[in-house]
Amino acid sequence: CGIFGVFNHPEASNLTYLGLYALQHRGQESCGIVSSDGNNLHSHKSMGLVADVFGNQEIFKSLPGKAAIGHVRYSTTGSSVIKNVQPIMVDYSRGSIAVAHNGNIVNAQIIKDELEAYGSIFQTTMDTEIIVHLLATSKAISLQDRLTDALSRIQGAYCLLFLTETRMVAVRDPNGFRPLCLGRQGGSYVVASESCALDLIDAEFIREIAPGEMIVIDKNGMNSLFPFKKVDPTPCIFEFVYFARPDSHIFGRNVYQVRKEQGRQLAREHKVDADIVIPIPDSGVPAALGYAEESGIPFELGLIRNHYVGRTFIEPQQAIRHFGVKIKLNPVREVLKDKRVVVIDDSIVRGTTSRKIVKMIRNAGAREVHVRISSPPTSYPCYYGIDTPNRKELISSSHSLDEIRRYITADSLGYLSEEGLMSSVGAENAGFCTACFTGGYPVKFPRLLDQDEPQ
Ligand code: 5GP
Ligand code: SF4
Ligand code: MG
Repeated sequence: CGIFGVFNHPEASNLTYLGLYALQHRGQESCGIVSSDGNNLHSHKSMGLVADVFGNQEIFKSLPGKAAIGHVRYSTTGSSVIKNVQPIMVDYSRGSIAVAHNGNIVNAQIIKDELEAYGSIFQTTMDTEIIVHLLATSKAISLQDRLTDALSRIQGAYCLLFLTETRMVAVRDPNGFRPLCLGRQGGSYVVASESCALDLIDAEFIREIAPGEMIVIDKNGMNSLFPFKKVDPTPCIFEFVYFARPDSHIFGRNVYQVRKEQGRQLAREHKVDADIVIPIPDSGVPAALGYAEESGIPFELGLIRNHYVGRTFIEPQQAIRHFGVKIKLNPVREVLKDKRVVVIDDSIVRGTTSRKIVKMIRNAGAREVHVRISSPPTSYPCYYGIDTPNRKELISSSHSLDEIRRYITADSLGYLSEEGLMSSVGAENAGFCTACFTGGYPVKFPRLLDQDEPQ
């Protein structure tokens, strides 16, 4: 998911719309904005893309005020239905509050069972709703104490934006799994999942919000707190591999440069004699440029992407995903004919994309197809906010390198090594979560919502 918020701007909800537009790659199922006019909160949300939900300027009349938060959703817990669209907004004894969440709470079911035993009634199937209930039942007085109280009980990954009538609060979990940054636009503060959203609205990047940090913004300015028990941070390395936009600056690095270096390293680890290097667009492009540069093999565009189709993987149904590859990519026969082709992608999940693409490239006349993947095999599911399928659907959890190569019908297959990924990110000595590649989960999961236990 992606979150965005702005405080103290006359066009807060309009800016939030633009911010969400820049974060659309982080979630395409649904989106929403909640604004505050100082006395009341106002909400508009729906299934669909940002441009479809907020395309009509009339909508902003119903989102008045100088503060707003927004969310683009890609479901990790809770099904893809309207009641699960965020931000969640509630009225309770102390006023109204809205929350937007990127991440995944791993002890959600345990807390939910407890809360239900004490009479809470849940309206959604999202883990995020638990936070609202914990807030409502906290005995603490100030907002920041109630937030600290509530959030100290949850484990997992959370970047959160809260909006009340008079305040906006941004929180990043102590492990810092997901990115979150702080910016300024004139006299207003802006918070966004990725810096590309600040760029779009000409906001100045101030800094990343630190793991475990809570930033409370109100009319007097901003206040930074570290209310949680400190742990060694474990930001998500997969944000670099696939999820974040290449023009963003996250975890202290530019995503494009990291991806290009992954490609260079991949060329060093898995050389092959070939005529051209092509990416699977868009996610494979920076790594393919790096591979071509390092290997000296010319870079070409052998597959053209239809940009009006979303990220295939994010569509919730298998049937659509299968169809998706074909709608999305078409080969350029003149580039591929009679060539020995190295094709670069960022990851293989189920293997369905690669299999179809290799066939497509061969049908276009390629002589050899060598697949190179700019990350290690994805063998374990993510429980911290990336929607990888469960373990048995991950092809590399149950198949050897050569079995995968045969399944995707490639002449050769090479994955970037774990060490290669770490060195490309410059993460050898920094803690990063690499659990989907290694199985070393940094936060244990007592019981999850709507999901299988890890296997
Ligand atoms: P597959 O067909 O192997 O299941 O999917 C691999 C493709 O899915 C890659 O091109 C990768 O860029 C894309 N992809 C989209 N979303 C995700 C995601 O959340 N995780 C992973 N690992 N790959 C994704
Ligand atoms: Fe990121 Fe993978 Fe860790 Fe999930 S398991 S947080 S995708 S590195
Ligand atoms: Mg891709």
